[in-house]
Amino acid sequence: MTLHIDPASLAEAKGGPKRWQMLIDGKWTDGAVGLEGERVSPGHGVLVSRYAFGSQADVERAVTAARRAFHRGPWPKMKASERAAVLLKTADLIDARREEIARLDAIESGKPIRQARGEIEGAADIWRYAASLARTLHGESYANLGESMLGVVLREPIGVVSIITPWNFPFLIVAQKLPFALAAGCTAVVKPSELTSASTVLLGELLMEAGLPEGVCNIVLGTGPEVGAHMVSHPSVDMVSFTGSTRVGKATVAAAAATLKKVSMELGGKNAQVVFPDADIPAAVDAAVFGAFFNGGECCNAGSRLIVHKDIAADFLAAFAERAKRVRVGDPLDERTDVGAIITAAHLQKIENFVGDASADGAHVLMGGSGIESGAGQYMAPTVVAGVKPEMTIAREEVFGPVLSVLEFSRTEEAIRLVEETDYGLSAGVWSRDIDTAVGVARSVRTGTVWVNTFMDGYPELPFGGMKQSGLGRELGKNAVEDYSEVKTIQFHRGPRTAWWVGN
Ligand code: NAD
Repeated sequence: MTLHIDPASLAEAKGGPKRWQMLIDGKWTDGAVGLEGERVSPGHGVLVSRYAFGSQADVERAVTAARRAFHRGPWPKMKASERAAVLLKTADLIDARREEIARLDAIESGKPIRQARGEIEGAADIWRYAASLARTLHGESYANLGESMLGVVLREPIGVVSIITPWNFPFLIVAQKLPFALAAGCTAVVKPSELTSASTVLLGELLMEAGLPEGVCNIVLGTGPEVGAHMVSHPSVDMVSFTGSTRVGKATVAAAAATLKKVSMELGGKNAQVVFPDADIPAAVDAAVFGAFFNGGECCNAGSRLIVHKDIAADFLAAFAERAKRVRVGDPLDERTDVGAIITAAHLQKIENFVGDASADGAHVLMGGSGIESGAGQYMAPTVVAGVKPEMTIAREEVFGPVLSVLEFSRTEEAIRLVEETDYGLSAGVWSRDIDTAVGVARSVRTGTVWVNTFMDGYPELPFGGMKQSGLGRELGKNAVEDYSEVKTIQFHRGPRTAWWVGN
């Protein structure tokens, strides 16, 4: 299979590279020690972006600015309605620049442009949802503590939040964090992935245009060890909101513990879709193909394991193969593309190694199995590995590529056990028309989300996050702003309390 890269889109990618700076204290700036980064597009193999990279000194500047904006600036003291207005204006600006942002994410991450547009639209929707929640954050009062006492429980912004995001959904994931932190009245230091920083910098421009006060949102670019690690350990940061791998997430929690910061962790997944014989099979086939190959499988929610009943396994896989033939792998900027490029050549190699090791372990490759020659950039053929056993590495670890592992089951308890047989607990799908079966599985598995007769839908109203080693805490949902707040209890006594101590 050879891919065709459209000369017109290659020329567009080559239209760069644009150089992106950091946003610190309301000003666009280079790094203190002059570090530089660059991005070669995964879909075309051309230099598309240059970045001013930061260092610890720039984290210091950014945290200082965020701290000052928190203590002395207007943002935390504003009416919630005024903060909401800035978030709503930002959402409008995102809508207005949707095409530009989508193209940045498609070019830098390799995702298909059609899909990227949907993500930017989804991000604007989340900004609006956060604006609506800003006005609902409130505390509680207790008048039942005796006639002289009134207890008031306040919700105050937690302070300075470090926000660290991965490369697979650059603009969408920052939208799951930043607007809620801002809605609560927090200030922030944001670090996007060093591979896909452009759209987050553009977001900084939109926030300034929307009227966010200086220093409230600072954007520092650079690598995890140089910039991210310092954002986590810095004593003036009150909370870390991180999305990324479980490996880095664990290191982040350990580093944050030194200063007892609050952490919110959205980490990896090894999600399964379980298909029972009574399922709507065409719908389940569609969902299995979508779950495995959406975003090239570079998705925390990827349905990377198919756990299918053995009575229907052969027919199901035949239908899957037929359906998967229609999945178009190709140029991220081509409107017809369903699966774009793999983020880096090293990551493609890692994915191929997973498949090679599974074959060596006794599994067999039914479809795909290796990279696709493109002449530019790196692509992976949609791959199905059957005969996978739960103890194999490919059944337990996150591959993060377009690779589906197929396992079979006979009894419902066995299916549940297979779902559970990983350290991850992000999400799962169940396909059955029988309510007892569907509810039984949904209630038994330890995952943060279970989809029944659907897969990978998301709504700002519904909390999202992982159990087990897939994360700590939840994003989105009605508590999403509360998560960025701190509780303060104030007790009011009617008249000075006099009889203060025994013996008085
Ligand atoms: P990663 O863990 O390598 O990097 C994530 C971010 O952390 C990047 O910005 C990186 O620069 C930074 N980082 C790296 N080392 C750091 C350190 N020592 N201290 C602080 N920050 C550091 O992850 P990735 O490869 O960018 O993204 C893919 C991973 O993200 C997958 O495991 C995927 O499942 C996960 N993910 C999870 C969710 C979710 O909501 N659960 C969503 C998307 C992605």
